[in-house]
Amino acid sequence: EVVVVGSCMTDLVSLTTRLPRSGETILGHKFFIGFGGKGANQCVQSARLGAKTSLICKVGKDSFGNDYVENLKKNGISTAFVGQTADAATGTASIIVNSEGQNVIVIVPGANLLFNFEDLKRASDVICKAKVVVCQLEITPAVSLEALKMARANGVKTLFNPAPALADLDPQFYTHSDIFCCNETEAEILTGIPVGNLEDAGKVGRMLLERGCKLIIVTLGAEGCMMISVEEPIPKHVPAGKVRAVDTTGAGDSFVGALAFYLAYYPKLSMEDMIRNSNYVASVSVQAAGTQSSYPYRKDLPQNLF
Ligand code: ADP
Repeated sequence: EVVVVGSCMTDLVSLTTRLPRSGETILGHKFFIGFGGKGANQCVQSARLGAKTSLICKVGKDSFGNDYVENLKKNGISTAFVGQTADAATGTASIIVNSEGQNVIVIVPGANLLFNFEDLKRASDVICKAKVVVCQLEITPAVSLEALKMARANGVKTLFNPAPALADLDPQFYTHSDIFCCNETEAEILTGIPVGNLEDAGKVGRMLLERGCKLIIVTLGAEGCMMISVEEPIPKHVPAGKVRAVDTTGAGDSFVGALAFYLAYYPKLSMEDMIRNSNYVASVSVQAAGTQSSYPYRKDLPQNLF
């Protein structure tokens, strides 16, 4: 089983011709609600590939929270450890996008930050029996770290995605992640090295290895990924296929979710093959609009991925 300990956010998206100025009210031409949050996104992608999944998280006791639980169920995800609290609203991302695709975003984590150590302890059985535990940083970082520690102590593989990145990330995150997977921006925040190409990614990878990770993956958008590990300390490029990208929102989460699926269900594949397959899945997700709405199902993918 793939167990994700992380966030749920309701995306509230308004499309406008331009972004409003301070104090201004403008008319938009379209509004929609989407399901987001890195934890839930990653869990949904894993589930759509066929993984048995549990999401361990907290939403509000409100209509967004109720709708989110329904959404998880529709995706076949176990919601046994989705808590609902009356003390905060479901996490939201209010997003305004203009006709050039530029955006302004306000995130209110709400219930995500009320997910605490007791909630985690309640879910310890599923965490300890998982094949892979996946964490990010959209909940209280100390709680994410504790989840990784719990998993590790029970021989469960840990996949950590340091997003959104923290410049002063607790060094224990490095030593408790079997796989540490970040994008270029996150890599720069963690190391101070801007990542513009494969060579930079390699440099960053070496630096993160020294901090105690066993295996680093830096995702490079259309270029795919760079991987480096203790066993193979020479940076390796795993390219993504050429596709026409329509909307890359949530591509990183699609990648992480797919990787969790391969780690749990195809543990004998080489890491390079797992990354190549995950690149493929994520590259499908960029060819349609939306976040979870663009994530492929197993039936939409070529047979040779399974
Ligand atoms: P994030 O969404 O966190 O910014 P990236 O942009 O690095 O992450 O994308 C994550 C993964 O999604 C990449 O490693 C790649 O597999 C896939 N991907 C993203 N953009 C493209 C693209 N334009 N063409 C093909 N694959 C892409």
